[in-house]
Amino acid sequence: MRSPILDYLDTVIEQTAHVDSGALADYIPELAAADPTRVAVALCTVNGTVYASGDTDHHFSIQSMSKPFAYALAIEDYGLESVLDHVGVEPSGDTFNELSLDPETGKPRNPMINAGAITTHALLKTEHGSSVERMLNLFSKLSDRRIEIDESVATSELGTGDRNLGLAHLLRATGALTQEPRTAVEGYIRQCAASVTVRDLALMAATLANSGVQPHTQERVFRRDTTRQVLSVMASCGMYDAAGDWLSTVGIPAKSGVAGGIIGVLPGQIGVAAFSPRLDMHGNSARGVDMMQKLSQDLGLHLMEAG
Ligand code: GLN
Repeated sequence: MRSPILDYLDTVIEQTAHVDSGALADYIPELAAADPTRVAVALCTVNGTVYASGDTDHHFSIQSMSKPFAYALAIEDYGLESVLDHVGVEPSGDTFNELSLDPETGKPRNPMINAGAITTHALLKTEHGSSVERMLNLFSKLSDRRIEIDESVATSELGTGDRNLGLAHLLRATGALTQEPRTAVEGYIRQCAASVTVRDLALMAATLANSGVQPHTQERVFRRDTTRQVLSVMASCGMYDAAGDWLSTVGIPAKSGVAGGIIGVLPGQIGVAAFSPRLDMHGNSARGVDMMQKLSQDLGLHLMEAG
């Protein structure tokens, strides 16, 4: 019998069909060529059951939804204290590609904005494989299938990556960045070009909801305290300069990506993923935000509301 949850996810798609505001990301030519009508939503329980509706097999690049996972890996590599020496945890209130540095320390304000994410990517240990290979292996573990890079997206963004390169040079000048700027930006851009579906993302989010244990394989991918740190930073900084609005309306830790994906995590319960390519003024998927608001209201996901 078809699950009522699948019927419900179908209605989330139907009831947000009117949302056609926003625009495709045009600073990465390959993303500007996306089909704006594609839409999908998925959720995964901490027991590993995945429910998905819409264009569930459509692949798109993970983009900034990779940032919480790179942050988690850096914390596992060095411990939180050392990572905090390089990247802060304060919401910046700025757009994702701003050079938001703490004026006193010269460190990027948080690991969810580009400045912090480039710095975080460059921190990853490389004795056992390049940082990009390590990120792909991590995404593969989290989604329980092999994840690869969309080379056309990577090439496209590398060709127009001047802003990120500019950020990296400034980060190098302040001492925050430990790598050569071009190496750091190329690695970061490849990390962002990993190709995923909403099912993959729901499983990745569910691993965070499950305190770092992948629900299908039962592998502990992140320590419990690492997961708590990552979710805290997602809650305060994951939606950039819309983080406050998001926390009050949707109420769960989340991260968006400029290809149109959003992941959300209800700790101990579920991971959620939505996809629709048109972005609002904050660089978050416009229809994705609507879908998430609906899910939060209908399923009572808001963390600040007693159950
Ligand atoms: N790769 C993108 C960039 O650096 C990621 C941005 C995003 O998804 N918000 O611009």
